[in-house]
Amino acid sequence: MQNIAQINKKECTGCGLCSVVCPKSCIKMASDAEGFLVPSVDEALCVDCGICLKKCPVTEASDGMFLPERQEYFCGAVSDKEKLKKSSSGGVFLELAEHFLNNKGAVCGCVYDENTVATHRIYTKGDSIEDMCGSKYVQSHSSQCFEEIKRLASEERPVLFTGTACQIAALKGFLGKEYPSLYTVEILCHGVPSPGFFKKYVEYLEKKLHGKVLSVQFRNKEKKGWGSEHRTCVVYRDKHGDLKKYRPLLPAYFSAFFYGLNLRESCYNCKFAKLQRVADLTIGDFWGYWSKFGKTFDEGISVIGVNSDKGKELVLKTEQKFSYLTELEQNEAIRSNDNFEHPVKRPKERDKVYENINKGYRGFWKKAYLTKTYRKKTVASFYGALVPQKIRMLRHKLLK
Ligand SMILES: Cc1cc2nc3c(=O)[nH]c(=O)nc-3n(C[C@H](O)[C@H](O)[C@H](O)COP(=O)(O)OP(=O)(O)OC[C@H]3O[C@@H](n4cnc5c(N)ncnc54)[C@H](O)[C@@H]3O)c2cc1C
Repeated sequence: MQNIAQINKKECTGCGLCSVVCPKSCIKMASDAEGFLVPSVDEALCVDCGICLKKCPVTEASDGMFLPERQEYFCGAVSDKEKLKKSSSGGVFLELAEHFLNNKGAVCGCVYDENTVATHRIYTKGDSIEDMCGSKYVQSHSSQCFEEIKRLASEERPVLFTGTACQIAALKGFLGKEYPSLYTVEILCHGVPSPGFFKKYVEYLEKKLHGKVLSVQFRNKEKKGWGSEHRTCVVYRDKHGDLKKYRPLLPAYFSAFFYGLNLRESCYNCKFAKLQRVADLTIGDFWGYWSKFGKTFDEGISVIGVNSDKGKELVLKTEQKFSYLTELEQNEAIRSNDNFEHPVKRPKERDKVYENINKGYRGFWKKAYLTKTYRKKTVASFYGALVPQKIRMLRHKLLK
């Protein structure tokens, strides 16, 4: 047996590349017991060609993909306040996306589909680009877009692919060569919860709200500005067809993601969480704003890692759109965000989290998630988030 079934579950990122490159179409992506997509091989059809293994980004196949060209870092926020509000961090994605669309290009990124499933789509027009804004804290599927990206890049159309590092490694593995008009931007990801888990969360919300959930905005800035916890805003259509918003007080789904309790096993061993990166640009939150500027950024600020000449080109082409764009030392960038250097640590409670998921979201909430430690942490951070950012920073300064 020379196929993808050999890859250890703790390593497989579920990128779907094996299912796309199989010449016999005998690999399908199917949900495992935790609700993550994993390859399932029809052994009767497999001819042991080994292509899936050779291409798999978690084998040595990805070793040549890391970009040795540059390691430069910036922090920045875009000037357009409306764009900032729609984005999770400093709005870098939206400015880049508009740049591509204004230049007859295409943008591939993550949206919620009509069933609130996170998936990658390709847009060539600006009408719905805002659907891609904002972090969807659940694993998205992207390999269905690879063929079209290849076609566009072969025609030398500018293409921007955005996603997690493992998705970018998969795309590069699929293409097998450098395309000058393709640019890649990775979100600085600390891991992804399963689509199955997210589905249970959406089902729970729909039952509670007696409506149809359209999107779960985890980093909504409307009420409390930029930050991470307790900013979940659920947009839904109620039973009368009216558009409504619901803001859960203690969203356990988000807290579980934040504390790394419900991530894919491979995320705790992520081989892409290191200083050398696979994408032209890396974008995340710049949590080091206080020590750098001594002021708060209520609408968000991003950290930007430039990993290649193409990445630098993107920064130079959009720099006039930023109100702040400041170069950082490598250690300032790393201190602001752990994921530049290493994967998130696997908490021991991870073992229990998925055990109860089949009982639905409430089963998870009551039995698995609310261990004493995490209950205390969640409640403390809830009250912490009520204190305005400026006061928190002042306290931080006085205690130093
Ligand atoms: C699962 C996940 C984990 C993350 N973990 C961290 C972290 O630990 N530290 C940190 O600093 N930043 C993390 N981020 C990134 C951060 O939340 C912002 O997305 C990023 O800073 C970009 O912000 P922005 O303001 O430029 O654009 P935004 O508009 O906020 O970002 C939108 C971009 O995110 C992409 N995207 C959204 N959801 C997904 C998804 N599920 N899979 C793949 N791509 C997606 C879209 O394609 C688009 O490119 C994470 C994001 C995700 C989705």
